[in-house]
Amino acid sequence: MEFHEKDTIYLDNNATTKVIPEVFESMVPYLTEYYGNPSSAYGFGRQIKDGIDKAREQVSELLGCETRELFFTSCGTESDNAAIWSALQITGGKHVITSSVEHSAIKNQCEFLEKLGYGVTWLPVGKDGTLKVEDVENALREDTAVVSLMWANNETGVTFPIEEVAELCRSRKIFFHTDAVQAVGKIPFKLSDMKVDFLSLSGHKLNAPKGVGALYIRRRAKFVPYVMGGHQEKGKRGGTENVASIVGLGTAAEIAGQHVASEQESVRALRDYFEKSVLESIPNTRVNGHLELRLPNTSNIAFCDFEAEAILMELDRFGICASAGSACTTGSLQPSHVLTAMGVPAADAMGSIRFSFSRFNTQEEVDKTLSVLKDAVAKLKNAQPVAS
Ligand code: PLP
Repeated sequence: MEFHEKDTIYLDNNATTKVIPEVFESMVPYLTEYYGNPSSAYGFGRQIKDGIDKAREQVSELLGCETRELFFTSCGTESDNAAIWSALQITGGKHVITSSVEHSAIKNQCEFLEKLGYGVTWLPVGKDGTLKVEDVENALREDTAVVSLMWANNETGVTFPIEEVAELCRSRKIFFHTDAVQAVGKIPFKLSDMKVDFLSLSGHKLNAPKGVGALYIRRRAKFVPYVMGGHQEKGKRGGTENVASIVGLGTAAEIAGQHVASEQESVRALRDYFEKSVLESIPNTRVNGHLELRLPNTSNIAFCDFEAEAILMELDRFGICASAGSACTTGSLQPSHVLTAMGVPAADAMGSIRFSFSRFNTQEEVDKTLSVLKDAVAKLKNAQPVAS
């Protein structure tokens, strides 16, 4: 069966977002007429480079950084891997500090570093998913090369105290990296006012295409490239640029900048209405994560009497897209490592669903989802064997 956007209620905007028409239109010339290599010296090449330069200005404007601090990559994962790898090479340190709720982009790299003999401190989070700055401070060692913490969690939306941790790391002369893939375009900030050394972002989380990202490298921070090759991106990232997608990311960043302030209220209102309605109408439900210190668009709800997969299948029958944090490992479903680290009991974690909204969602869509959800849990309850 084929799915069409018009039949879909897309509540999975932390997984990816749609490429909006303005972004697509800005990309088209770079997929058709302007096909020259941006590194070529003749006018036809320079014109392509101008497109990249404009995108660099647009993304830098959103982040509040200088254009010379912004480098395009292939994705958020590459930016994450590059920042940590570079910090290890530059400092020669053998220790990394991160959290126990990171995205696999950081988690898997750090697990691999452990196999190579590096020390990794996996900072704990509280029951509400928040992290204490003092825990970071207590974990710092002589040989710490980098502290890497996500700005906002992809499953719960819970945010970490990035500004404070960045200050702390700077005062100890330790590199600080933040995986801001879920934060960029969802919360306003200005890097020039902060002490962050490296920041990762990903195009497809903010209405640009998949397969393009960027890494902010503070002007004075030393860096060695992770993808080595040509002299592209001022020697910081080899490989002929994905020009059309970079241009798309630039447009997306400019548009995100126009909406990020108002969405703090509008998207939050839609999310809060949805969340309140679920909690009031479906027994044994609760929110995973801090109610205030989180992204305005994310709601992670535990349906404690049910399996998330069963509910998601019912939602899917109506074209409603949301996701569970559980992961399939060696053929069986495992509770999400994020919820597990927060101390959510395994059964509740297996019943947890993430709904992530965007400004394109409507009240009508939310009401339809609420109605389908209520019917789904009633149906699943009836299907459950009566306990004897
Ligand atoms: N970091 C976080 C917090 C994410 O949510 C994601 C994607 O889901 C990534 C990193 C990876 O980004 P990309 O898909 O661009 O590699």
